[in-house]
Amino acid sequence: MSGKPHPKPPSSRKRRTKEMTAEEQRARILWKTLDVPVGCVAHHCILQQKLRDRGHSDKLWDFRNRLVLTREEHERYHAGFAPVWRDQLPDAVWEFAFELDGSEIGGYFNDWLYRKYPVRVVEAA
Ligand SMILES: [Zn+2]
Repeated sequence: MSGKPHPKPPSSRKRRTKEMTAEEQRARILWKTLDVPVGCVAHHCILQQKLRDRGHSDKLWDFRNRLVLTREEHERYHAGFAPVWRDQLPDAVWEFAFELDGSEIGGYFNDWLYRKYPVRVVEAA
């Protein structure tokens, strides 16, 4: 086995904004800004990269997959300093995952959400 990592498939490459259609750009701006208070940011519960990798580039701006976090929460989450708890996820994201999984119970995206968002830990007093 070679230690060289496999190159990423072309589908996983991030497309630049200028390569998006006007409709996609509008959807993206709405997704990122609608009802997002100052100091907050819209987070993809299922990461954009995961959606692209699995051939769902047309589902990047589905509102069911959106969670509004404060900028600080968001940065800490992506830096791996603090989790986002499962109970913070919108109910609709489970429906979204189920659809992506082709209605398969315990499918790829459902499982991914379970692994990525742990049950909240309540500290003992
Ligand atoms: Zn995020």
